[in-house]
Amino acid sequence: MNDKPEILLHACCAVCMAYPIELLKENYTPVVFFCNPNIYPEEEYLRRRDELIKYCEQESIRYIIDDYEPEKWHAYIKGLEQEPEKGIRCSKCFEYRLNKTAQKAKELGIDIFTTTLTVSPHKVSKNVFISGENAAKIFGLKFLSQDFKKQNGFLKTMEIAKKNDFYRQQYCGCEFSIRK
Ligand code: SF4
Repeated sequence: MNDKPEILLHACCAVCMAYPIELLKENYTPVVFFCNPNIYPEEEYLRRRDELIKYCEQESIRYIIDDYEPEKWHAYIKGLEQEPEKGIRCSKCFEYRLNKTAQKAKELGIDIFTTTLTVSPHKVSKNVFISGENAAKIFGLKFLSQDFKKQNGFLKTMEIAKKNDFYRQQYCGCEFSIRK
């Protein structure tokens, strides 16, 4: 029997989830939350979502898929469309997704949550932590500030992705991050 406490893991895609989930399993029972209304276009959203579902089912990991509501996300980042990647639009994007993750954790009665976002070298972990800790405060929960890119985390997650032949996207997610 697994008596490790549950942790709600916000996951942006199967690739970024692969290594963090292995690490978290050492101390927790991860429950995956796919909440990514930032992803554009919808076909890309569905592709990343379905790849994540496939892996969760293969590994017998519980998962929850949030509603796809890109219009709400757009309203949240309004005015920041032209900001560069790693800037203020990304901080708002983290805030949006981590507030929703904290809200879901509260609903589920899970008192700790974290995110795969820090595994990517394209994300500023400090900004992810600020958003996570603020969300935790709002909902009276704990945020696990774990920097998954440490100890070659990105390399490790890419290796698992390669082994499992995951779909690997070429851009972060929103339409503004699509490289010309
Ligand atoms: S570049 Fe990525 S993190 Fe930044 S706003 Fe777009 S989807 Fe969000």
